[in-house]
Amino acid sequence: MKKILIASSNADKVKEIRTLVSDLKEYEIISPADFGIFPVVEENGFTLEENSLIKAKAFHKVFGYPVISDDTGLFTDALNGEPGVYSARYAGLDADYTDNYKKLLINLNEVSGPNRKANFKSVICYLTEGDEYNFFEGICNGSIIRDPKGGNGFGYDPVFIPDGFNKTFAELTEEEKNKISHRGNALRKLKEFLING
Ligand code: IMP
Repeated sequence: MKKILIASSNADKVKEIRTLVSDLKEYEIISPADFGIFPVVEENGFTLEENSLIKAKAFHKVFGYPVISDDTGLFTDALNGEPGVYSARYAGLDADYTDNYKKLLINLNEVSGPNRKANFKSVICYLTEGDEYNFFEGICNGSIIRDPKGGNGFGYDPVFIPDGFNKTFAELTEEEKNKISHRGNALRKLKEFLING
């Protein structure tokens, strides 16, 4: 069985990716937790593509396996795409998920309902060897509510309502989120690539 390592030390993300690719029968999906080694990678790129490649190369160097990395950002229309590539550290280097979405809610305070549109974008990098890699992109459109709701998911999930729903990502089950999410959409493209080449 071919092994693919999920190039992330973020347990929430690893869980989602693992679930989404678990039906790839010819591949064994492994993660840094299987080795107890959690590389810290400086994500100093200016785009999601650059950051996902930086992560893919760094994890491949440490573990030697083909890797799946993901870089995701939340882009809001009213704030010219903020927090975007800086979603993880929007409220500062030590910010947690709650600090980040609270800062977003404050910055959107004066913005009325119809103008609170946003989208999540994920770029997955699948890297097999040094310079052999492909990118797969997934988007989920929605809007930002005023008060966080729900206890599932992670990150900005409690403040994001995907288009066509009246619940936040954090109120959906993992299965419901995966069906429509940015990461789900990107990973479905990767799976198609792995199955059909
Ligand atoms: P990363 O740089 O790709 O690890 O992710 C950047 C940040 O985006 C994370 O720290 C989360 O706050 C947020 N994020 C990534 N994916 C999701 C998601 O599926 N839902 C909500 N927030 C997310």
